[in-house]
Amino acid sequence: MKKRGILMVVSGPSGAGKGTICKELLENNKNIKLSVSATTRAPREGEVEGVNYYYKTHDEFKKMIDDGDMFEYAERYGNFYGTPKAAIMKDLEEGIDVLLEIEMIGALNVKRMCPDSVLIFVLPPSLEELKKRLTGRGTETEEQIEKRFSMAYEEIQTMKEYDYFIINEEVEKAASEIEEILSAEKNRVSRY
Ligand code: 5GP
Repeated sequence: MKKRGILMVVSGPSGAGKGTICKELLENNKNIKLSVSATTRAPREGEVEGVNYYYKTHDEFKKMIDDGDMFEYAERYGNFYGTPKAAIMKDLEEGIDVLLEIEMIGALNVKRMCPDSVLIFVLPPSLEELKKRLTGRGTETEEQIEKRFSMAYEEIQTMKEYDYFIINEEVEKAASEIEEILSAEKNRVSRY
């Protein structure tokens, strides 16, 4: 019988570089699938429906929750974000490893529902560096940056609930550390 895929969850404060690390990881590992989330937030410039997110109205999102179609969801900065259930269940069943790039509340809910999921927390090299990155990416307003930065310290406190942490000093190194975690998890005795 085919072994179930591994459910990996990557979180970290906004600006820690989760997105870049996940992109690098997925480029080098075609066997890992990124779960595309649903969100009520508006698309940012360059974002594509079905690639970055499935963009939903509040009503559509609520209907997905009510219909039991959401694996997990959370509210963040006034918008809803959630993982559609069907796709990840199918992939895991088929032995495909699935990556969720989600915030902490959702991540801890995933761990509660699936104790064998693997939670990885991405840390910026320092809080100064985090601020620099948030400002540098130019996608948020000054007010949004301040809000995200002040949340970061609080968010870092949730790290103790995670299985692993990674310091994002360099993207390639951080991505290869996730590969190492995945390969160790595949050999975990309790999975067999
Ligand atoms: P952004 O608006 O920058 O794309 O995402 C904001 C936050 O929502 C990020 O921390 C991101 O990881 C998180 N997020 C994205 N998709 C999901 C999801 O499906 N579930 C949860 N719980 N968080 C998500």
